[in-house]
Amino acid sequence: MSRSHEHDRATNVRRASATRIVVVVLAAWACGPQPPPILPPGPYVPGQSYFSQHDYIEYIAGNAPVIFSAPHGGTLAPADIATRTCGTNTTDLNTEELVRQMQQSFFNRTGRFPHVVINRLSRSKLDANRDVQEATCGDANATAAWVAWHGFLDVARQAVTANGARGWYMDMHGHGHAIQRLEIGYDLSAATLALSDAALDAGTAFEDSSTIRTISHDDTSRSFSALLRGPTSLGAMYAAEGFRAVPSVTDRSPGGDPYFNGGFNVERYGCRDGGTLCAVQIETNLTGVRDDAASRTRFGDATARILERYLAAHWGVQLTR
Ligand SMILES: [Zn+2]
Repeated sequence: MSRSHEHDRATNVRRASATRIVVVVLAAWACGPQPPPILPPGPYVPGQSYFSQHDYIEYIAGNAPVIFSAPHGGTLAPADIATRTCGTNTTDLNTEELVRQMQQSFFNRTGRFPHVVINRLSRSKLDANRDVQEATCGDANATAAWVAWHGFLDVARQAVTANGARGWYMDMHGHGHAIQRLEIGYDLSAATLALSDAALDAGTAFEDSSTIRTISHDDTSRSFSALLRGPTSLGAMYAAEGFRAVPSVTDRSPGGDPYFNGGFNVERYGCRDGGTLCAVQIETNLTGVRDDAASRTRFGDATARILERYLAAHWGVQLTR
């Protein structure tokens, strides 16, 4: 009995000291002057891949004013991260492969590398398009990966917007909706997109709540509604390349059909609150876009051509040197 108590006391002492060590490490992590060693040190060479701890987050460094990310295409499911039970765990199939092709196509056309950030973890372990609580459901290892995801996006943002330069960010997803079209998210609801052009262009309230606010302010030759669904809108340019899209000239609003209008990443990194990095979320359909390598090449090549035209026409950004 007494030996058993001795044993319990010794175990409790060991547990208590282990708890103290964890508390001290967490306190240093949270309050110390040095950032946590979550990102590999720079400088980052354009075209090269860099990884966070355990290769959970991959950053392909760039030298063009463009960022692509894939938060929901990962497949890694390590046992030391708890499976999420606080949100949806659906994978956006082949979107990791899609952004890799977009990077290659962009380089082939412009001779410059876009920045690419990929979450290689399964969404069942990390949702990299949510605030930290819903993203990780409180798991400490998932939280480290979430910090790395945003650390790499911050590296890319700072590189792109240095000295006030203009840049473009596309957060790439995959939807499972029946209608095979791109759903372009500017952080405007389906109800907002259902309004008339006159209503969208009355005042600045709608453009100021969108993820392309700064482009809309700078492009004084076009109305906001024209930027969303006129002949030179992003959606119209995709449609002209054979990729049906909403909003666009032909699909002016989602109507009553399912539609994703944006999310955490484009709200955090886009220009809704000002700044010179503007953004869209693109929810891609599967068929003809990301179902196989040939589709992804067609989409990647089209995206490079479109961004060259779109950013030059609306914002004076030249992608080709
Ligand atoms: Zn997604």
